Order: sequence, then C-alpha cells, then structure tokens
Amino acid sequence: MSPIDEIMAGYEALRAAQEAFYQDLHEHPELSHTEHHTAERVAGQLRANGFTVHTGIGGTGVAGVLANGDGPTVLLRCELDALPVREDTGAPYASTVTVREAGGREVPVTHACGHDMHMSCLVGMARLMAGHRDRWHGTLMPLFQPAEETGEGAQDMVDDGLFGKIPVPDVALAQHLLPGIAGTVATRPGPFMSAADSFRITVYGRGGHGSMPQNAVDPVVLAAMIIVRLQTVVSREVAPGDTAVVTVGSCQAGTRSNVIPDHAVLELNLRSYSAATRRRMIDAIRRIVRAECQASGSPRDPEFETTFSFPVTSNDAAATDRVAKAFAQHFGDRALESPVQTVSEDFSKIPDAAGVPYTYWGIGFTDRATYLAAEQDGHLDELPANHSPKFLPPLQPTLRTGTEALIAAALAWLAPR
Ligand SMILES: [Zn+2]
Ligand SMILES: [Zn+2]
Repeated sequence: MSPIDEIMAGYEALRAAQEAFYQDLHEHPELSHTEHHTAERVAGQLRANGFTVHTGIGGTGVAGVLANGDGPTVLLRCELDALPVREDTGAPYASTVTVREAGGREVPVTHACGHDMHMSCLVGMARLMAGHRDRWHGTLMPLFQPAEETGEGAQDMVDDGLFGKIPVPDVALAQHLLPGIAGTVATRPGPFMSAADSFRITVYGRGGHGSMPQNAVDPVVLAAMIIVRLQTVVSREVAPGDTAVVTVGSCQAGTRSNVIPDHAVLELNLRSYSAATRRRMIDAIRRIVRAECQASGSPRDPEFETTFSFPVTSNDAAATDRVAKAFAQHFGDRALESPVQTVSEDFSKIPDAAGVPYTYWGIGFTDRATYLAAEQDGHLDELPANHSPKFLPPLQPTLRTGTEALIAAALAWLAPR
C-alpha cells in the first residue's frame, strides 16, 4: 500500500468527527480580524494531536509545528474568516449569526467561501499525519490565517514575525474550493489568480459659479478626461496577449448643475497576472492622472490612496509539477488542470516573504449530477459560486477529497515515492 493509502485508511474512523467539526464551524462563523473562537477551536485540535502551537500571530493567526525527524519542512495554509453574507442555503447547520459593526449596523455572517471546509480538511489531515508518523519524515506545519477576505491577514502574520516563530519551509501549499465538480482537484503551473488593486484618487479644481467657468478649474471635466485616457492603459500599454483590466467603478463630484465643485474622487480597480504588468499599469495610471491635472491647471497635486491590494498568485512550476503528479497518481481522472482564475488571494505573501516556492490548487464544490446537468443546459453560470448566499458544498466527497489532496501533496515532499 502506498503511504497515502495507509494514512487515508484511518479516514473512515475520523469522518463523523470531521463532519461535525465542519458543521460547527459553519454554524459559528466570524468576520475577518475577529476569528477568536475559530482560532481557539483549530489550535485545540492541533494541540490534541501533538503539535507545538503558536497563536495570536498577526491577530488571530495560528500555526502548528510537528517535527518528525530529518526531511523537508512543508507549510500548509488555510483561512479562518467568514463573510458579511446572509446565508440562504436551508442547511440544518446554516448560519444565523449577525454582528454589530463599529457604526452600529447589524451584518449577517456566513462561511460563503468555504474557509470552514478548508480548516476541517487541514485539521483532519493534521490528525491523520500525526497518527502515522512512521509513514513520513520531516516537519509538518499547518497554518491558519486570519482576514483573507480583506487581503490583510497574510501580511499581518509576516509582519508579526511569523518566520521567527516557525521554521522557514521548503515549500508552501494551499487549496481552495473553486467552481468544479466535488471530488475533483485542479492544478495549474504559473499565473493562477490575478493581482487586484483598488485605488481612490482625489483630483482638485477650483470651485466657482457654473456661469463663470473662466474663474474656476473644473474637476468634472478633469475627471472625465482622466477616465477616457485611462482606457488606453490596457489597450495601448499592455501587450495584446497579456490579460489585464482597469475599471473606474466610481466617480463622484459636485452637488448641483450650476456649481463647479472643487474636487472629484475616482475609484479604480485593476486586475493583472504578472508583477511587471501590474507595475506598468500602476505607473501609467499615476502618470496619466498627474499629467491631466497639470493640463487642467489643477491647483493641488492629486492624492492616491490604495484601498486594497492582493498580489498575483503564480504557482512555482516545479512544485506544481510535483503536486500534479501526486494527484494524477492518487486521484486518476479526478485530477484536472485548472483554468486561470480571475479571483485574488493574499496567500502568496507568506511564501514570498520567506523566498520559498508555492503551489495553490482548486477543489471542486458542486455535486457531480447538479454540475453535469447545468453544463448540459449551458447554465454553469447559474450555479452558486464562492461568496453567494447559496454557497454550500456537499459534505462528501468534498471533505474527504480536500483531506486527501493535502496529504497527497504534503507526502510529495515528506514521503516521495
Ligand atoms: Zn477564500
Ligand atoms: Zn472569499
């Protein structure tokens, strides 16, 4: 029997507890930065299985270390946080949690991105690996990151001295529920998820009466010029074969028709798949905004504020190849190649901070029959996706597949065949 089959032989004994753990996490979600109870739950599971556990990293982050002789060190990361979404799945374990935000507004909370399932798979994997230490050698490090949905948690953990608390790994691994058939896994080398950046740009004019534009600097016209000119960033400055997006999602200026306001605020979102293209687009946007302000005779320099930023997730070719081979061997035709994803992730900040390779793969979350019927009808876009109020992966085979995938991937370093 292969090491993975021997380790997975213990799965049936763990299955009921894992499903209950998942349902409990699902029923008790916590928003980004407030994952205190969730962090305690996963830390408790790691301690019970003999891991050295570090808590409170970058807020509520948790990392476990299980040293098991000479060999590589493998980091496996998942996320603790849920979303401000009202669950509408009808599941018996659906969340009814609401929290009051700082401003007093009540918001619903749901694990609508599958982080509860990621945690349950990683905790289950940690338990199975701890119970079969004779089948692998090296150091296993499960890591539970806070605030992935806001794009802050990975950097918070790094800034809090993560790699002073745990060893620098040889490789970092992560998985996520992504559109696809439950029971399948999907890898992809190279650029996998886009970098996303959002900016708020304030440009200044000089206010005045609508009838006397000669005495004013009109920021509405200035903003309009910027918006039109920004359309050339992708069409004229990004190579035709490259994929990139610039969207001006919001433009606010003025209060009424006969008053020239004194400023305008633009909100932009960018997507890109390489650090070079991202840099080039950001530089182009700054250059265009400054130049248009100058052309308009703007009395003050424009202000640029980053409202959020996710790095590109670009899978290391060699690490991905190693995982893809392990998946092909173990999952057979349930191991697929993933298309490029337009969503974004902050996971890569952790391996990038340590200068180590990483790979990130998808696990499907739609019941096979439902998926195939929707595909047949050409309605795949109508299936609930991540962040939908109706997002609800089937317990099985999703939990088992996610647990197996983590084991198969980790063993590609810890017990190579
Ligand atoms: Zn997520
Ligand atoms: Zn998400």
